Amino acid sequence: MTETTKQQVLFPTYARTPVAFVKGEGSRLWDEQGKAYLDFVSGLAVTNLGHCHPAVKAALHEQVDQLWHVSNLYQVPQQEKLAQKLIEISDADRVFFCNSGAEANEAAIKLARKYHQNVLQTGRNEIVTFEQSFHGRTLATLTATGQDKVKDGFHPLPAGFVYSPYNDLDALASKISDRTCAIMLEMVQGEGGVNPAEPSFVQGVAELCREHGILMIVDEIQTGIGRTGKWFAYQHYGIEPDIVTVAKGLGNGFPIGAMLGKAHLAEAFGPGSHATTFGGTPIASSVGLAVLETMDQQQLIDRVADLGSRLLSRLQERYGGRKDVLEIRGKGLLIGIQFDHAVADYIQQAREKGLLVVQAGPNVLRLLPNFLVTETELDEAMTILEQVLGTEK
Ligand SMILES: *Cc1c(COP(=O)(O)O)cnc(C)c1O
Repeated sequence: MTETTKQQVLFPTYARTPVAFVKGEGSRLWDEQGKAYLDFVSGLAVTNLGHCHPAVKAALHEQVDQLWHVSNLYQVPQQEKLAQKLIEISDADRVFFCNSGAEANEAAIKLARKYHQNVLQTGRNEIVTFEQSFHGRTLATLTATGQDKVKDGFHPLPAGFVYSPYNDLDALASKISDRTCAIMLEMVQGEGGVNPAEPSFVQGVAELCREHGILMIVDEIQTGIGRTGKWFAYQHYGIEPDIVTVAKGLGNGFPIGAMLGKAHLAEAFGPGSHATTFGGTPIASSVGLAVLETMDQQQLIDRVADLGSRLLSRLQERYGGRKDVLEIRGKGLLIGIQFDHAVADYIQQAREKGLLVVQAGPNVLRLLPNFLVTETELDEAMTILEQVLGTEK
């Protein structure tokens, strides 16, 4: 069916590329015509172990045969196991499970407010976030997002959000007041253009939070679960946030999100304070656990750090000198090439040649290979990029 004869059945919320994939394995996807693609998008930092990873598939099959869903009215041992593992790899003490990134951030926003209002009784409710940030599409999380384009037409927005320029500690200090309950930020702004935070900035934020009794919320929905070469990107900076949110990479494509927090916050989230029907079902939790165990067993954190720094160097060597390339940056396997012009044409040409890549803002070409990508596949991607980026614009 061509686009014009095709019946319109979906809300047109996505500018979809006219290709439908029918099969995936490792780094490869195949479309309806049988054409193969090398996937350097990974469902937007989701299928981090590649498509249909055998260990994750096995865990899913096993749980599907046992039990799918019971409700959080009851104990869910798979959820506790996954929480235990998340606590081991982070600095957190408690976990709340949900189904998406926006929901994890929504939980973080609610927890920060409730902790200040009901436990500390400071009455503080303001949350400082950053320009170019992305925190989700629910009303609270799009309000937290520091980009006007996601807010257009959705007013009135929830009150209590204040925005500050990223990587600017002085500006941040001026935005903090006796109403501030939390500062929320990404360690690498993913959607905002692959912008890593400066170490001095992150350490300064942690310092300000300590000094003023403000909670530090780190949104690791894109960067968490190994993407940057550590379990969590905040671990590059020698800080310990109060709250960390994850989602994308945790289920390798099975929907699951989580909010991780310090023990002292538990008092604010007693029975009746927050809930979601599908949060941490036996299936979602089993899949999440298989993802983390696979990453442990195959030592994928080290692999991501190693492959990521080598890929970044190769890209810098090859394209760093171009006049239309402003910067090549990233952490681990979250890499962006910033041009002084739009990159949409490059993305289309790469797809035609069998390589999937994605933008981060109009001018940044983002590469998100999976953690098991082979050297040969990296060479193949470099070759296709070479053909596509070939000459300067
Ligand atoms: C993708 C993303 C979100 C939103 O996650 P959803 O699962 O789409 O709701 C929030 N924050 C960051 C940093 C993200 O990359």
